[in-house]
Amino acid sequence: MGKSDEKPKKFKKTSKKLIKEAEDPCLVCDGDLYIDGEFTQRIGLINEMDEVYGWLCPYCKTEFDMEGKIESLNGKNNISGIA
Ligand SMILES: [Zn+2]
Repeated sequence: MGKSDEKPKKFKKTSKKLIKEAEDPCLVCDGDLYIDGEFTQRIGLINEMDEVYGWLCPYCKTEFDMEGKIESLNGKNNISGIA
């Protein structure tokens, strides 16, 4: 009885890894894209046909397609360089 009552603070939460539902971090830069349930900070990418084909992270400028796959990283297009 006595000394070991104190709980060791070993399990410090690293809140960065705790992704709540209300957060929408960019996969690349971890920037918070979430504004509210309806809006995010994603910048829509529209082609000549006026169709949204993807989105751009306002922080790191990475382009994603509609499936969330990275199209171009920081403006570079060589992600899948070696096929
Ligand atoms: Zn980003």
